[in-house]
Amino acid sequence: MRLQGKVALITGSGSGIGRAAAALFAREGASVIVNDVDETTGQQTVEQIAALGGQAAFIQADVTQPDAVELLVKRAIERFGRIDVLFNNAGISGVGAIHEIELDAWDRVMNVNIRGVYLTSKSVLPHMMEQRSGSIINMSSCIAEIGLARRASYSASKGAVLALTKSMQVDYAKYGIRVNALLPGTIMTPFVENYLRSSYDDPEAAIASLKSRQLSGDLGTPEDVAQAALFLASDESKFMMGSPLYMDGGVTFG
Ligand code: NAD
Repeated sequence: MRLQGKVALITGSGSGIGRAAAALFAREGASVIVNDVDETTGQQTVEQIAALGGQAAFIQADVTQPDAVELLVKRAIERFGRIDVLFNNAGISGVGAIHEIELDAWDRVMNVNIRGVYLTSKSVLPHMMEQRSGSIINMSSCIAEIGLARRASYSASKGAVLALTKSMQVDYAKYGIRVNALLPGTIMTPFVENYLRSSYDDPEAAIASLKSRQLSGDLGTPEDVAQAALFLASDESKFMMGSPLYMDGGVTFG
């Protein structure tokens, strides 16, 4: 098993990619701390893992809130003794060009997608520095590399995550900590379904158009991205440091 004996904290793992990663990490022997702002869905992830014989615990926290994040990490360490893998996965979507986005909507996207990464990493890093080991996976997006219409706040937040990843890697390499970024293309999750429903009169046509841009001819699944996260979490990627890992059906460079 590729994560035997490791402890992994996955933010936003009550749904989509985070949930798929939590299940896969547990199958590969990790003890998983399932975090989400949504208690119901987070608990469901834990129940799914328990039903498969895996080890997981849910700790509710909003990653934008410093006190909640500190408590999350404190409780995780109390429960499992250490954190080997931090997957900064929690994120929300944002739609609109600059002139269409209200300030509070801009701030909401930035708060979850980049402030959340900062706060969670800030709380976990002292433990990894003491351990002199750890793997941090930051959820960026291929939108950090390609321009898409009316995604100003979201693309800015995911570009910031990619830049932060490189900076973090330089700062923490000396502690034996690796920091890499995941850049998925379009993955069918509740996140994308909600975005398509709220942004297009004909979501089916929008899906067909998204698929046509993929070299793969199809959209990705949460499991596709979970496999990439597993690679970054495990020692198999020990020579990967500060890098982007694309999991995008060829949309970025195709
Ligand atoms: P999702 O909506 O299915 O899951 C996101 C989870 O994050 C939800 O359970 C939600 O409750 C949780 N969350 C939201 N705000 C939170 C907060 N403040 N604190 C804690 N948890 C919070 O979405 P997904 O598609 O699985 O996306 C996961 C990550 O992948 C996001 O960062 C997203 O930006 C990124 N991503 C997704 C796609 C895609 O196409 N689905 C592509 C590229 C990147």
